[in-house]
Amino acid sequence: MKNKILEAVKFIVDNGLVKGTWGNISIKDGNFIYITPSGIPYDVLTEDDISVVEMNGTHVSGLKPSSELPTHLEIYRVRKDVNAIVHTHPVFSTTISLVSNFIPPLVEDAVMILGPKINVAEYALPGTLKLAQNVIEALENNHAVILKNHGLITVGQDINEALTASLVCEKTAEIFLYAMNIGNFNLINEEDAVILRNKYLNSYRQNSKDIR
Ligand code: 13P
Ligand code: ZN
Repeated sequence: MKNKILEAVKFIVDNGLVKGTWGNISIKDGNFIYITPSGIPYDVLTEDDISVVEMNGTHVSGLKPSSELPTHLEIYRVRKDVNAIVHTHPVFSTTISLVSNFIPPLVEDAVMILGPKINVAEYALPGTLKLAQNVIEALENNHAVILKNHGLITVGQDINEALTASLVCEKTAEIFLYAMNIGNFNLINEEDAVILRNKYLNSYRQNSKDIR
């Protein structure tokens, strides 16, 4: 698990989803979660630094866990289908959080892996229970939620899915900004969006593999 966290960290850095030490990643394994430590530069992170925490919040080993631990724990408590969480501060998703309360059903891949409509959670200070509550409310049954004036959270049945969801959300946020700039644009209709989402959930996830 610790190795998977380090690989995921490299993925979010390599894909430009974070700058500096911001963002955090966790993976759930039974009653334990493995989570990036708070405020440690990603390029010096070692397996020993990864924080291990029980599902009740008790710190087991490693450095002090991410300040967003309350949000990670709350997502795992509410969403039993989720085993990995990726929080990043990417440019386009964060820009959307300033100008819209949601991303509508724009493109197929987003509707499939993220959900028909991606909500923006109300602002609350980082690390607070209020932010955790706002995230749960806006996440619904989706695989992504944008945090107002802050960034992005994606979830997955495994870390690969959560990472892919981050890339797809960021790509879709970029498309949304271009489309809004140009003017009129078409949406996928609600009925088709539900069909696409169900197709993904029921048949696209048969080949889930660990990070390549
Ligand atoms: P941590 O370094 O404590 O994980 O916090 C980063 C962050 O993105 C807070 O929202
Ligand atoms: Zn953050």
